Amino acid sequence: MIYFDHNATTPIIPEVKEVMLEAMDKYWGNPSSAHMAGQKAFAELEKARERFAGLLNVNASEIVFTSGGTEADNIAIIGTMDELTDSSIVISAIEHPAVKVATLALEERGVVCRVVPMQENGQIKLDELSDAIDESTGLITVMLANNEIGTIQPVKEIGEIAAKKGVLFHSDAVQAFGKVPLNIKENQFSLLSFSSHKLYGPKGCGALYVKTGTSISARSFGGSQERKIRTGTQNIPAILGFVKAAEIAYAEMEEEKKQLVGLTEFLYQEMINNIDDIVRNGDPGCRLPGTLNVSFPGTTSEIVVPALYREEICVSGGAACASGATEPSTIIMAIGRRKIEGISAIRFSLGRSSTKEEVVKVVSVLKEVVERIRNVN
Ligand code: PLP
Repeated sequence: MIYFDHNATTPIIPEVKEVMLEAMDKYWGNPSSAHMAGQKAFAELEKARERFAGLLNVNASEIVFTSGGTEADNIAIIGTMDELTDSSIVISAIEHPAVKVATLALEERGVVCRVVPMQENGQIKLDELSDAIDESTGLITVMLANNEIGTIQPVKEIGEIAAKKGVLFHSDAVQAFGKVPLNIKENQFSLLSFSSHKLYGPKGCGALYVKTGTSISARSFGGSQERKIRTGTQNIPAILGFVKAAEIAYAEMEEEKKQLVGLTEFLYQEMINNIDDIVRNGDPGCRLPGTLNVSFPGTTSEIVVPALYREEICVSGGAACASGATEPSTIIMAIGRRKIEGISAIRFSLGRSSTKEEVVKVVSVLKEVVERIRNVN
């Protein structure tokens, strides 16, 4: 099998698995219990929080462990908007459903939500962002890097706009975390969402950074874990595995970035050399190192992607079938592409184990599949 779908999820690496197994043996106590078994687990949990906060250069008290990126996004958006009575929210047009659907839920409650359009390279239109913020705006949310096209947002400029206008700034850092540098102090973030399984950690685990002084209400009710923002007994093996995975990602970031930028550029060159009429989506110079998104007009990703599966190649497409017709990827349409590009876009997301040989194999199968489909159409 060739796995070029690392933005969907990554396998757990051995070092992380080892930490998790050890945690299951040693730190099985309930961290909220006052006795020895509980306190042993609690001490490890708080050490992990310190280590995670250390990577981000923030205070441990600003980290809330969650069940993943979706929950972190939901808490960030609904939790802050609950506190900001009568406020509106501004989001980018390419947010992940964990953000987009959370804002739809707010809209159903009468909250005004403005959506800011994107430039062709996938970055937000800063002037329009600034114009969309008015006196009623309480929160803006713009993801750090997009999961489909990999474009990285100008978060410094966005943070400056947020600070100038006096609004909170949340960013979904699920895809960017551990892949590109993240400077929280310099970038005026109020809230950031993270997920473990995108960086070789376990699924069902993530974190939310909540800047000191940010008012946020609980999304679940029960005990007093995670400052009551996310109650419920913490999953210690998953959290320890997540933090270990994050430390490894940080230690290997530069090396991995170089390797993945080289490999994805090689993949694109191989495509150009072998397949006619292709369109690259996103910003080649400002993107996640392992992400390449390409449209193959004259095909649909709904047909190409399963054809690749049959050859044991795992990739993903953004188009979806709705009412019997192929609906284009909303992300590809949001960057101004034509419908034929929106329905034929495929995301190739490479990772640590990806090789040049795999790239060559993928392009040779892809060429055959794309040509066959184009000849039928
Ligand atoms: N945000 C982005 C940008 C994502 O890519 C994902 C996962 O695909 C999520 C949020 C959701 O994270 P999780 O799967 O941990 O809930």
